[in-house]
Amino acid sequence: MLRILFSRLGDPSVGGAGAFSFNLPEGMCPTCEGLGRVSDLDVNELVDVERSLNDGAITVPNFAVDSWYWQTIVGSGLFDPDVKLQDYTPQQWEDFLHKPATKIKVGSNNWTYEGLAVKVKRLYLTKDRESMQAHIRAFVDRAVTFTTCADCGGTRLNAAALSSRIAGRTIADCSAMQISDLATFVRAVEDPAVAPLIANLRDLLDSLVEIGLGYLSLDRESATLSGGEAQRVKMVRHLGSSLSDVTYVFDEPTVGLHPHDIARMNDLLLRLRDKGNTVLVVEHKPETIAIADHVVDLGPGAGTNGGRICFTGDVPGLRRSDTLTGRHLDHRVTLRAEVRPPTGHLAIRQADLHNLRDVDVDIPLGVLTVVTGVAGSGKSSLIHGSLRGRSGVVIVDQSPIRGSRRSNPATYSGLLDPIRSAFAKATGSRQRCSAPTPRAPARRARASG
Ligand SMILES: [Zn+2]
Repeated sequence: MLRILFSRLGDPSVGGAGAFSFNLPEGMCPTCEGLGRVSDLDVNELVDVERSLNDGAITVPNFAVDSWYWQTIVGSGLFDPDVKLQDYTPQQWEDFLHKPATKIKVGSNNWTYEGLAVKVKRLYLTKDRESMQAHIRAFVDRAVTFTTCADCGGTRLNAAALSSRIAGRTIADCSAMQISDLATFVRAVEDPAVAPLIANLRDLLDSLVEIGLGYLSLDRESATLSGGEAQRVKMVRHLGSSLSDVTYVFDEPTVGLHPHDIARMNDLLLRLRDKGNTVLVVEHKPETIAIADHVVDLGPGAGTNGGRICFTGDVPGLRRSDTLTGRHLDHRVTLRAEVRPPTGHLAIRQADLHNLRDVDVDIPLGVLTVVTGVAGSGKSSLIHGSLRGRSGVVIVDQSPIRGSRRSNPATYSGLLDPIRSAFAKATGSRQRCSAPTPRAPARRARASG
């Protein structure tokens, strides 16, 4: 809608709606191909400049001293293998990192030499991240940095698309605005020729504001939305539709939500119902159970102890039912009287990802700390943006476990290894007879090859 609006009202006109799209050649920035970011390598993750080649200066996996890759670099004869990298001449440093693939004759052999950064990009950055071995993937995550594309300033659009304006703003400006501000801006745009379009755009923006997503911007990448935000964006799409008599199923829509946001989510669920739809919610938050017209309580326990209907009926009935859920409806945890003293702290300084404004925080060590706030207040930006990748920090989140397709909780947790040893010992067989270990695909490949 915003693209059509700009194609009709933007000045100067740059053509049809496609000319604003970063997904189409007409509109995309040619430098970053519409991504808004360009990737580069952090040289500090590739080498230790205080060492020489012979001393293990290259810290890239599979480039250890005497490895094949190491030999192609040392064998090129371009560098003295005993000189520390920090003492290279500017030309040597350029050749070492960036020289394009070049044929070099060494003795009677023909070598192909290419700069370390060129080789690493070719070997590791063009591969599918999911198919990499764990240690390679960890290296790539450390070494690749993304910087904003200098040519489009991260807007993903080409110069022509960025020249067209409505009331002084480009489409990129509009996409970067907080949705609540954009709603105000669009409200001021008057043009009889596109009145219905503007009305639809206003409705949609207002719905986003109403369900508490007014702090987002339209250019926020979908992948960076939290689960709750994504689900609410989907809800807005359905709220806007004129369908009724539809059954909507929501699977834990309150995941990750602050109680304040759960109340807004509840309003939304009730509005969907009131439009003449059936709303089915899988949920265990008491706040959401409380608004149900009808409750189905499964249990009584988990796994083999579950699978039976314990209660069906209304909420007062559930409260009286004496099922686990019924008893917990009114349960409230008590506050701690005493807390443990911290043993130190982890400093975060001048965090400014997304909406963070120059935030300084000390996270106490040796204690349990909770970071809280309403959805969109910056919790994930602060923690993931500032702590991920730091030494001694392990991130445990809801992303899927990355292992081979054969991995399961036993192999992933390492629980299977002692069991295999015990079986091997008991049956007198050797370890190699055990089932393949998914955590060591390289070893397995060699053994079978
Ligand atoms: Zn660009």
